[in-house]
Amino acid sequence: MITQRSVQEILSVVRIEDIVGDFVTLKRKGANLGGLCPFHNEKTPSFNVNPVRNIFKCFGCGEGGDAVTFLMKHENISYPEALRYIAKKYNIAVEETEVTKEVLQEKQLADTLFIVNERALKFYQSQLFDTDKGKSIGLQYFKQRGFREETIRKWGLGYAPEHRDVLTKTLTTEGYSIENLRKVGLTSQYDNDFFRGRVMFTIQGLSGKPVAFAGRIMQSDAKVAKYINSPETEIYTKSRILYGLVHARKAIQQKDECILCEGYTDVISLHQAGIENVVASSGTSLTTDQIRLIKRFTPNIKIIYDGDAAGIKAAVRGLDMVLEEDMNVKVVLLPNKEDPDSYVQRIGATAFQEYIEKEAKDFIFFKTQTLLEEAAGDPIKKAKLVKDIVSSIAKIPDPVKRQLYIRECSALMRVEEAVLIGETGKIVRKNLEDKKAGRAAPTPSVSDEAGQPTDNQKVIEETFGEKKPQELEKSGTDYQDLDIARIIVMHGEALFIADRNITVADFILLDIEELINNIEDKLAKKILSEALNLLKNNEKVTQQFFLQNPSKEIRDFATNVFSSPFIYSENWENKLSRPLETQKMPDSNFEKDAIYALKRFKLVHIDKFMKISHSEIGKAIADKNVEQETKWLKIYMKYKAMHSILTKELGTVVLKSV
Ligand SMILES: [Zn+2]
Repeated sequence: MITQRSVQEILSVVRIEDIVGDFVTLKRKGANLGGLCPFHNEKTPSFNVNPVRNIFKCFGCGEGGDAVTFLMKHENISYPEALRYIAKKYNIAVEETEVTKEVLQEKQLADTLFIVNERALKFYQSQLFDTDKGKSIGLQYFKQRGFREETIRKWGLGYAPEHRDVLTKTLTTEGYSIENLRKVGLTSQYDNDFFRGRVMFTIQGLSGKPVAFAGRIMQSDAKVAKYINSPETEIYTKSRILYGLVHARKAIQQKDECILCEGYTDVISLHQAGIENVVASSGTSLTTDQIRLIKRFTPNIKIIYDGDAAGIKAAVRGLDMVLEEDMNVKVVLLPNKEDPDSYVQRIGATAFQEYIEKEAKDFIFFKTQTLLEEAAGDPIKKAKLVKDIVSSIAKIPDPVKRQLYIRECSALMRVEEAVLIGETGKIVRKNLEDKKAGRAAPTPSVSDEAGQPTDNQKVIEETFGEKKPQELEKSGTDYQDLDIARIIVMHGEALFIADRNITVADFILLDIEELINNIEDKLAKKILSEALNLLKNNEKVTQQFFLQNPSKEIRDFATNVFSSPFIYSENWENKLSRPLETQKMPDSNFEKDAIYALKRFKLVHIDKFMKISHSEIGKAIADKNVEQETKWLKIYMKYKAMHSILTKELGTVVLKSV
């Protein structure tokens, strides 16, 4: 067991952004960082990391917690395993008390399975380096491929001897249970070794743990499959693993591009040559889950095909799902009879990189050309081709991109643009209808630049109908402050319908945390800071808390809010000459109400900041202080940009600007 002192040390150094950053590309969003959620599928980022509080939260699916929680959930590992991961990352020595038998038994199954695989990996490695057969067959093979010893060790390459059950016997003698050996697929139901007489490749998960193995047979005339993979197990789902991703992740992020090859040796060879943003789909053809895995790190994929691959056409047909995920896909064809492994070794890394840079073709154009060659002179085939291409284009979610492809492909295929537009439109509409009829609505996501719902515009349009420009009077901030307080009092505890893990209080208070101190209205400030304190102490923001509050002021306010819910609405209506539809049914509309109130609140505060910076600019000009002038001008511009986004979202045009 890890000692308490060690646990404390680990927890005190860990930075949430470092840990999450190992698995998700994060971009700065104000004080926070954001990215695509690894726990649910999404197109716009609703996954947030808060470095100050050292936590993460997804507003799409509700997952949230600290670095340890993230690792446990993401890597399917236990609490101590997560701590060890962090310790390793920060070079902290882990102090452990002796492990008792009971503790061992309590260990999670997943842990045990990883431990079995780790032991097996050591076994295969020692067979490779320390036995005659291993050296003469296995090591010989890897050396022929040009792999250096450090490469062989880094990638966990090994050798499985040609024996019936040497691995099974060795490990069971050491105390590993036969059940667990079967569970990871190393031992068959008849107690034979699964891998025999093969060179071994270790398949690692994103945390670097061995989740499975692949073995390549050495006799070339064998009737058995050249490569076999571990069967699917509790820790290995083929469709969700990309070979090499643990080593490629950093380079993929840096280059903002992922290169996809077909074979294990391709990946290893390219990495050894210094091209490290390379992975392969192992044991399956490319799956949607694998695409989404790549998408966490980059939207750009380059797929390399061997020059003589007979299956190119089939492969190309199977690639439409990449388009559906809104990825930028390019295809590279290697010269005849070359694969990435052989080619990079022959021409070197620099020339290889230049080649794939130069030869990379946009996937849709590549597909069009490939199929055009096939259809040459055959009108029926050509008609089929048009259909095929159109259905690919229709899968692209972005309409602007679709339009560009239609134009280019119409020229390539010599088909009128109007025909393609019509055909594509039909499919797009049909897909939409299918989606509406079949699948549930897309996951709502509650975050964009400002940490706001991305489909706010829609929410607001639904709420207020058609947008009409309105004049927003400078109404002071007091009203907005009390309005936010009202919503916290009334609906603080309510769960968002779209996301049952987040309350209205979470949604609002965490967003305006920094603004609370600036609130002028004393009562509103008191209510909001008390509510924030509740949240920070992990307590619920209940109506009772306010109704039975020790402070008479707060009690009165709460009572007032509940007995005459329209009192502020009238005020709001007067000030904006806008009917407040959200107020008619406050109970069912609280969600829209909260979102909208938050925006109004922010808007008036930004307004206030704009005024302040505006007058500071004036002062600086009068003082002829260029430095101050520039500084305040920058601040003013920043607020102005935020202001215009918010007014646009609110459907309000501010006529009187400062
Ligand atoms: Zn999520």
